[in-house]
Amino acid sequence: MSQESSTPPRPLHANTASSTPVCEHCGACIDANEWYPVETETAEDGTLLFHSFCSDRCRSAPEQ
Ligand SMILES: [Zn+2]
Repeated sequence: MSQESSTPPRPLHANTASSTPVCEHCGACIDANEWYPVETETAEDGTLLFHSFCSDRCRSAPEQ
């Protein structure tokens, strides 16, 4: 199942507003002033997790 998410991440990241997000796939710094792809995942305990990526290519890349 693929989950499309076009929700702007910034309002959801109030506690990380002062830190630079990094791509979870390649580790590149993300320019938070620009739109970037975000995946959301619900953990087993119900916590909503956010995974940010520098590009759609990284977002759709298989996990290693
Ligand atoms: Zn990346």
